[in-house]
Amino acid sequence: MARYAYFEGRVVDLEDARISVMTHAFNYGTACFEGIRAYWNEERRQLYLFRVREHYQRMLNSAKILRIRSALTLDQLVEVTLEILRRNGDREDVYVRPLFYKSERAIGVRLHGLSDDFTLFAVPFGPYLDVEKPIRARVSSWRHVGDNVIPMRAKISGSYVNAALAKSEAAEDGYDEAIFLTEDGHVSEGSAENLFLVRNGRLITTPVYADILEGITRATILQLATEQLHLPVEERPIDRTELYVADEVFLVGTGAQVSAVGEIDHRPVGDGAMGPITRRIQRLYFEVVKGNVPEYRHWLTPVYQE
Ligand code: PMP
Repeated sequence: MARYAYFEGRVVDLEDARISVMTHAFNYGTACFEGIRAYWNEERRQLYLFRVREHYQRMLNSAKILRIRSALTLDQLVEVTLEILRRNGDREDVYVRPLFYKSERAIGVRLHGLSDDFTLFAVPFGPYLDVEKPIRARVSSWRHVGDNVIPMRAKISGSYVNAALAKSEAAEDGYDEAIFLTEDGHVSEGSAENLFLVRNGRLITTPVYADILEGITRATILQLATEQLHLPVEERPIDRTELYVADEVFLVGTGAQVSAVGEIDHRPVGDGAMGPITRRIQRLYFEVVKGNVPEYRHWLTPVYQE
């Protein structure tokens, strides 16, 4: 099936969306991106983008930090996304990857005085982490980049070297995922997920100043947990050893969705099985993203004509 991309201001075959080896972003990591999911609802024969406007708002914030000016407004970014998805015509879950990047073909590391551009592609995408059974995680030997190193408030391509170092270390040592500590030794987040834990019926997550990406799934879960499950929630620093004594731990993100953590640094989380609160949150999340909960349908953008 033909697959399309938005590249240099127009729709092209995905195969033809190519940058030069001299492109600044390729040399220096000077790009920022988003990962957006679209969920296929078989009953409604509809593909729903989840919180697409929030993703583009974050991406415009990332661009601002990187001194990239968007030629497209937020509405136009959404329109381009819909156009590519409609052209691709997928009838399964899809992952959308838009990027702003420094497109100048130039040597010299800087942010100012360079041309920039926008590109987008989309591919079918299943689970990123196991969502059926709990995963095994380790605390990474790599510290997380901080706000004064490479800010995580912006989803910057270059900062994902830090994530890749941690993920490969974990994977090659037999774990599913890495958990980062901040430079000052508090829990930050997973390599591509925000982290939650449950202790004595309270839902706890790291605050934004723990050098985390301001996750859209994280915000979604905090809202659903409060409004639907009536759970007390706390955003506060988490110590490494609090992970070891938590009743439940789970990781959340667009890719990861809601994934239970069953073991951290060889200590079982709770009894090692998926905890009841994690299970309730995961079920509710999947219902919401698929468009089965009317109250939250405003978070969804249908791709095909209704
Ligand atoms: N943290 C990092 C480092 C990530 O890459 C992601 C995935 N975008 C997340 C957290 C989760 O963010 P979101 O829920 O907005 O996808």
